[in-house]
Amino acid sequence: MSNAKNFNPAKPVGMEIVFYYQCPYCSRKVPLIAPVEPSMGQCDACGNQFPVVPADEKNIRYIKTILDNGKAAIDPNFV
Ligand SMILES: [Zn+2]
Repeated sequence: MSNAKNFNPAKPVGMEIVFYYQCPYCSRKVPLIAPVEPSMGQCDACGNQFPVVPADEKNIRYIKTILDNGKAAIDPNFV
């Protein structure tokens, strides 16, 4: 890891939006990368699976677009 100091801090080249779904088994708030179709989430605490309501793909695309896939969301004072 001694080479790491030779690099500038990496900038984001993409982003995902994380949604939280409450596990019906243990009530944990389970983070999932926005599912855009009906799917099963898996609780990372108790391991049970449960169906989740999907996110609207248009909304996800919109947020990624206005943030330019993360490039427009970085701290301008850090560049
Ligand atoms: Zn759980």
